[in-house]
Formats: sequence, C-alpha cells, structure tokens
Amino acid sequence: MPLINVPAAFALIASLFCFVSAGIVLTRRDYRTQASGVLLVYLSVSFLWFLEQALRRTGQLDFLREEFLSLVPFYGVLILAITFFFLTRALLGSRASGLQWSLLGLIWLAALAILDMNALAIPPKLMFRGGWMLSRQALSFVLMIAGWAVFIGGATILTTRALRETSRYYTSVSYWVLVLILMVAGDGHFFAGQVAIGSSLRLAGTLLATYVILAPRLPDISHIMRRSLSYLIFALLAVALYTAGLVAAQLVFPGYTILNPIWVGLILALALVFLFYPILVRIQKIVWGWMSGGGQDSTNLLRQYSQSITNLLDLDLLATLSVKTASETLDAKRGFLFLVDFEKGDDGHNIFQLRGVKGTQKTTPLPGRLREECSLALYFRQEYKPVTQHDLDFNRRFRDLTSQERKWLANLGAEVYVPIYAKNEWIGLLTLGPKDSGAAFTAEDLALLSTIADQTAVALENTRLVEGLVRLNDEFRRAYVALDQANRHLERLDRTKSDFISISSHELRTPLTLISGSSQMLLDEPGLQENTYYKQLLSKIQIGAQRLHEVVDSMLDIAKIDTRALELEQKPVSIHELIRAVCNDLQLSAQERQQSIEMQDLSALPPVTADVSSLRKVFYHLIINAVKYTPDGGKIKISGQALEPNLSDLPKGGIEIVISDTGIGIDPRFHELIFVKFYQTGELAQHSSGKTKFKGGGPGLGLAIARGIVEAHHGRIWVESAGYDEVGCPGSKFHVVLPLRQTESPQPPQMISLPS
Ligand code: ADP
Repeated sequence: MPLINVPAAFALIASLFCFVSAGIVLTRRDYRTQASGVLLVYLSVSFLWFLEQALRRTGQLDFLREEFLSLVPFYGVLILAITFFFLTRALLGSRASGLQWSLLGLIWLAALAILDMNALAIPPKLMFRGGWMLSRQALSFVLMIAGWAVFIGGATILTTRALRETSRYYTSVSYWVLVLILMVAGDGHFFAGQVAIGSSLRLAGTLLATYVILAPRLPDISHIMRRSLSYLIFALLAVALYTAGLVAAQLVFPGYTILNPIWVGLILALALVFLFYPILVRIQKIVWGWMSGGGQDSTNLLRQYSQSITNLLDLDLLATLSVKTASETLDAKRGFLFLVDFEKGDDGHNIFQLRGVKGTQKTTPLPGRLREECSLALYFRQEYKPVTQHDLDFNRRFRDLTSQERKWLANLGAEVYVPIYAKNEWIGLLTLGPKDSGAAFTAEDLALLSTIADQTAVALENTRLVEGLVRLNDEFRRAYVALDQANRHLERLDRTKSDFISISSHELRTPLTLISGSSQMLLDEPGLQENTYYKQLLSKIQIGAQRLHEVVDSMLDIAKIDTRALELEQKPVSIHELIRAVCNDLQLSAQERQQSIEMQDLSALPPVTADVSSLRKVFYHLIINAVKYTPDGGKIKISGQALEPNLSDLPKGGIEIVISDTGIGIDPRFHELIFVKFYQTGELAQHSSGKTKFKGGGPGLGLAIARGIVEAHHGRIWVESAGYDEVGCPGSKFHVVLPLRQTESPQPPQMISLPS
C-alpha cells in the first residue's frame, strides 16, 4: 500500500480549493450579486463532493450503506449540473427567476430519489426481452444521465446564444465556453469511470468559473491567442533561421568544423537580436490580419481622418467622420458623437448635458445628463481616459451612477466611451459599440481611440464656436427685428403726437383770435371802460388769451420743427440788439421777482446770418426759463464771445452766447432729456399758469423749440449745471453756438424723438 493515498489527497486539496474560493466569494458578495450567489452554492456543493470523495477513499465513510455510498457521487454530479445551469443563466442569460427550471430540477431529483429508495416498490428487473434486460438500477442511472444532459444542454444553449447574440461581454462568454468544455469533459470522464481525470477537469472548470465571475476584467482570449501565435511563429522562424544558418555554414566552410558552430551561432544570434522586433511586429500584423479578417491600417486611416477634418465646421459631418473612422479602424458596430455642455439642471444642480449629433445615422441618440459630481463625470474630468462598459458595470468606483444614468448609457449600446477635451475641458464624448468580431477592446484600442478623440477635439471646438456664433447671430437678428418694430411703433406714435399738436394748435388759433379780438373790442367800448369790475374781468380774459396764444404758438413751432416745415428767412442779425430786445421784454417779469438781468455788451460781436424771429424765440425761452427756475433775488447773466473759424463745425467762425443763472440747477442725468419736447423734470402738480412764477413750469416745449431752431441754423445748444439743488442753487449755464454764415441752405430741423 502506498504511503500517501494520491486520489484522496487530490480530492482533499480540491475540496480545500473550493472552500477557499467560496470564502473569497463571500467576502466579495456585493459584487454582481446574482451570479456570485449561485456561485457560492456551486462551490459549496463542489466542496462537499470533493470532500466526500476524499473521505470515502480513506475509508472514513465505511459505516454508511454501500448502495447509498455508490449513489452519492452521481447525485452530486446531477446537483452540480443543475447548479451550473443556474450559474450560466445568472452570468449570461436572463435575470428572471427561472422558477420552472428550479421546479424541473427538484422534480428530477425527487423522481430519482423515489426510484432509488424504491418507494413505489418497483421490481429490480423491470423488463426482460430476449437477451436485453432493464433493471431498476439502470433506469435510475439513465434518468440521472438524462437529467445531467438536460441541464448541461441548457447551459450549452445559453452559452452559445450569448456567444451569437451579444458580444457585449464577449470575453466572459468565451471564457465560459472553456468552463463548459472543462465541465462536460470532466463529467464525461467521471461517467466513464476515469474519476481522477474527471475530478481534475472539474476542479479546473470550477476555479475558472470562479475567476470569470469574480475578476473585474478578463484578458481578451483572442488577444492572448494572437500574441501566443505570433511568438510561436517567431520562435519557429528563429529556430529555422538558426538551423539553416548553421547547416549553410557547414556546407560553405567545411574546413573550419570546430570554430564554425560557435561563430556562426554567435552571428546568427546577433542577427536575431537585431531583427527580433521588426520581425515580430510584422508577424503580429500578419496574424492580426488573419484573425480579424483583414482589417485596416490604422495609421493610414488616422492620417486621412486628420486631413479630412482639418477645416471642418459642420457638426453633422464631423460626427459622421469621427464615428466612421473610429468604427472602421476597430471594426466596431455603431457609435455616436456627443457634445458636452456644463449647465444648471431644472433642479438647480449643475449637470453635464450630453447632446447627440445625428450625423448620417438614422436617428439622433437621446440626450443624456450626468451629475457634476457623479463618478463618471469625475473620471472623465480627472483621468482624461476612455472607460469601458465593463468598467461601468463592474468597477466599484462607478457604483454611484443612478439607474437613470445607467439606463441612458445602456441604451447607447456602447462598449467604450471616449472623452474629448479642448483646453483641458471635457467638451465631447465618442461612444463606440461592440466590435464586429465580438472581441473586447484592448489597451491598444483604447489608446487609438484616445488619439482619434484628440484629433477630433480641435474640429469639435471649432464647430461648437461656429454653432455658438450662428446662434448669437440668430438672436441678434431676432433682437434687431424686434427693435426695428419698436422703433417704427415709436415713430408712428411720435407722428401721431405731432399731428395732434399741429391739428389742435391750428384749431385753437381761430377761436383764440376771436376771444382776444372780441375782448379787445369790449375793452375799447367807452361804456364798459367806466365800470372797473368789467374792466378787470376783461383784462384777465386778455391776459389768459395772450398766454394761450403763446402756448399755441409754441405748439405750432414744435409741429413745424417736427415736420421740418420751419421756414427760416436768413438775414444778418445783430445778436446784441436781438438779446437786448428780449431782455427788455422780460425786464418787468424779472423785476417782479427781484431778479437782475445783467447783459454783457455784445455789440462787438459780428452779426450772424439767421432768421430773426426764430432766433428771438431761442433767447426768449432761455431767458424766461432762467427767470422761472431762479429764486427771487437771483441773478441772470448773459455773455458772449466770437469764435474762431474751425473746420469741423464753424468753417466761417461763429459766436457763443451763454445764459447763466443762479437758479436751482439741473441734474446731469437730464441734461439731454430737457431738450426733448414735453419733457419736464419737475412735478406736474407744480404747474402754474404764471409764466414767470418760480418753478412755474410750462408745457415743456421751450427748450425743444430752442434746440430745433439752433440746429436748423447748424448751431449747437447745450447746458452745464453741477446738479439740481433748490437750497444750494448751483445755477445753470445754457450755451448757444451759432455759425456766422450758413454754408448751405438752412438745414431742416431734425425730428426730435422721444427718449428710449
Ligand atoms: P418748461 O415749459 O417746463 O419750462 P422747457 O422745455 O423750457 O419746458 O424746460 C424743460 C425743463 O428743463 C423744465 O421743466 C425745467 O425742469 C428744466 N429747466 C429749463 N431751464 C432751466 C433753468 N434755467 N434752470 C433749471 N431748470 C431748467
């Protein structure tokens, strides 16, 4: 008897392996729960199965009945087959409960147990025909093999379907094929009585299954095969070269038989060292070509791609080209290009909005959103690397992704996500579906995709900028149209107002003339002149009618200015005389307010060519305003100077008159607005009919008329004032600049528009 019972020791070690694996699964249970849960059951059953073998082989179970003991391993194999089916289902198949299959498994086991325990009292020999006999024991064996076949068959169908249908987790599926082969081969050997080989294969299958389910990332089998094949071919080639070299040397230098092998060997070895890399690369390319059915030269494709997108500004075309290049280079099924925008979501949180670009695809992918702080967004912004769907599913780093985010990603059917950056900002995403071959994306593939993404970045940034400009342009155009409409509306309103002023002033004039004419006639009536009461009433009517006349005249003036119908009769005018006449007219009003009007001697000023009556109105309005907006006892000063000719606005020279007062002043915000018709800074409640009363206020036409007339003479008018202050009275200074001579026909006054 050998010292060590080898099969028992092997079974014990195998059971130990299963035990440790189960322990590992337990510590990582949260990892893909359903599959690892079933795996735990599978490992536990395997552990018991191997343990039973170890114990039986060392005679530890001799106390049990022989018939029972002989059945245990077979039951074990059936239970393992059933569990394996569920394991396959959990890993590759549907995630539904699989109740029918569980029931089927239970019924099968129960039927077997009933048959073996002979609960139905079936005779040991069921049928005997000719030389052929069916015993109860044989029936139970057949039933068990059939059960095993059903469940292993089910697992095989699931695996082949997964292999055909989805290449999403192709690597897992291809590894699972290996697991399945190991399991079937192991069980086959076991049924054939070769327990040792069967157990070894089963153990290998079990450990591989554990690895497939637990490993976050599996090496690509086809990649490994490609590599191995390349090295094998290279090794064969090296041996062939070496041998051929030695043989050739022997033939060429037969005399140097001793030295020959050493030197020749050395030279050949050196040659091989130098040729190693280029030859290997060549072989790898050829092998890659065989295994992927040709394939494209990626460097060439990339170069072409880079050239074709250099000046591209069309987003759809860029999407088409980038997706096409990426999928053609790597033989991938589908792909999409997304624009990434950082925005504020509806709920107020910052998000990355991913907008799909249609390109030449049939459909535009649904837009998606990722939270600013979600692991995937963080990964892209920190790592600058692509990520695979496999990573998203299995790497714990991405477990915080919400079901909504996962659903959107899953809908894309992508296998790999490649971020695109411009100036270190995440601006786009290229997604690529599984490869046609079903193989997984290798590290080299991901590096290649990153290169494509880098090349796409500049073009994408340009198209985004252009898109932004186009959008801005549209907005501008829309705003311009709205502004234009508003402007036209305002112009219409202004015209209506001018028409109203014009019509109403004309209509008022006739009755006014009647009133003032009639009252004058009444005043001249000798009978009424003696009656002081009537005389007073009549003179009040006269004053009122006079004031109304002035207002109506102002309205007519402004209507003429608005309609550019102001008629100017150009004559040389002595400004000194003109202002003095105005001052004389207003002297009385100033005296009533204890104000002094101080007029500088302006007789030295050259005469200006102008319309006297219009110009008179300018200074009348300015001086009467000075009286109105200066408190009692204030001072009004009128000064002037001749201006040298200047090319810009006074080619023949001009004069400047300044009317300054010690009044309440004007807020700088209104320095321009007061020249707009009907504009008043004071309150309407302060209106009074007294035309020279302090802050009396008028219809708001005086300055508009003044500017209209001055500008019609190609002159300028403006105000200077430190601000509005009724107590401090900073005063105001109105400047009027007039050219000495009109170089062209007097310009019709500009339409004075309302402030916007
Ligand atoms: P109004 O009929 O109200 O006097 P104007 O067009 O003459 O209309 O003046 C417009 C507004 O400019 C006035 O309501 C007043 O507030 C301001 N203003 C004009 N002249 C003076 C001034 N000399 N001092 C202070 N405010 C003035």
